[in-house]
Amino acid sequence: MKTDAINPISSGSLIRRQSRSVSVRYGDREVIIGGAAPVVVQSMTNTDTADAIGTAIQIKDLARAGSELVRITVNTPEAAAAVPAIREQLDKMGVDVPLIGDFHYNGHTLLNDYPGCAAALSKYRINPGNVGQGAKRDTQFAQMIEVACKYDKPVRIGVNWGSLDQALLARIMDENAARAEPWSAQAVMYEALVTSAIENAQRAEELGLKREKIILSCKVSGVQDLIAVYRELARRGDYPLHLGLTEAGMGSKGIVASTAALGVLLQEGIGDTIRISLTPEPGGDRTREVIVGQEILQTMGLRKFTPMVIACPGCGRTTSTVFQELADRIQTYLREQMPIWKTEYPGVEGMNVAVMGCIVNGPGESKHANIGISLPGTGESPAAPVFVDGHKTVTLRGDQIAEEFQAIVLDYVKNRYAQKESEKVSGSAS
Ligand code: SF4
Repeated sequence: MKTDAINPISSGSLIRRQSRSVSVRYGDREVIIGGAAPVVVQSMTNTDTADAIGTAIQIKDLARAGSELVRITVNTPEAAAAVPAIREQLDKMGVDVPLIGDFHYNGHTLLNDYPGCAAALSKYRINPGNVGQGAKRDTQFAQMIEVACKYDKPVRIGVNWGSLDQALLARIMDENAARAEPWSAQAVMYEALVTSAIENAQRAEELGLKREKIILSCKVSGVQDLIAVYRELARRGDYPLHLGLTEAGMGSKGIVASTAALGVLLQEGIGDTIRISLTPEPGGDRTREVIVGQEILQTMGLRKFTPMVIACPGCGRTTSTVFQELADRIQTYLREQMPIWKTEYPGVEGMNVAVMGCIVNGPGESKHANIGISLPGTGESPAAPVFVDGHKTVTLRGDQIAEEFQAIVLDYVKNRYAQKESEKVSGSAS
């Protein structure tokens, strides 16, 4: 008979891979990637960077949604020229999120010709597969690293299998052909991705970039491929790792694929920053990728960003839409309040609110949450008991249940999480 207790899996018991920490700064704002720092959520704009106002507005929206770093493409002289204006516009809006410049093909030229761009960015992303061909490649890579050293900026060596360095791939294939038992084509591809990241990081160090300025990524679009590549990348060094499935896709497919891949790696302690590469629907909200990234980390127990709504899926016992509408209303309300609540009510991000559809699991689940409501299912008496910290406090009735429950949630937040004056003083002194 088994006698040992089942071990709880939590952020406390999950062992993170030991990586170096890299500091990404803008003004007084510092975001640490790696080391003991929490896993950082980042995102990328899809505006034309040359449109400084439009890009600044999207960056503000992404930062407000919780993106801790925002990447912008810097692909043309017009885009590079706009970067200082974007930073200035963000300063005027009070948005201090550090910006990352994404460079391909002409990054060496743009970074040298637009020093204002090089200075305004807090980090550069260099794709070693898109730096140049032949002898030019080494020179152009070196030029970008020299700019990073000059402005003291961290760099992500970001390999992508869609733009893998073909010369390096040919070399690895030749080495493979010489093996007594050659590897599969898939194993050769994995090796080429990992080797590209590691060799380019070593080359950047030889050029003078400090090791604690380098982050690596090797993005692929298949879940099993990503897991295999990152396990190997993690094994071969202590550079902090940027995780993400490239071209994850649209809608639920993109979310599921990203969650499946990142869930495995994060559970193994691999990954220091994440970006969810969702394809938005036409006209869709770009901030979705930030929310998905946060929800992956929060549902895994790795970080807390916003109070979570626990809602049952509904079934034949919930024939009206009242319960779905209330769950949606409360989740939206909680997320909208967070920009203010996170400073006024520290700790509120860990709150759980249960919205349940009927008496079967409603009262039980509600008692486990900070606040819960069990709505009446079909045929049940039209009453909705509310539970606060495990105890039934009131039963709501009538057509104002949603408004009344929202008011109860707000009261709870104010009473439970408001900082006492003495805490404010000691908090500001520390
Ligand atoms: S709590 Fe009730 S309504 Fe919700 S899924 Fe369970 S049985 Fe259905």
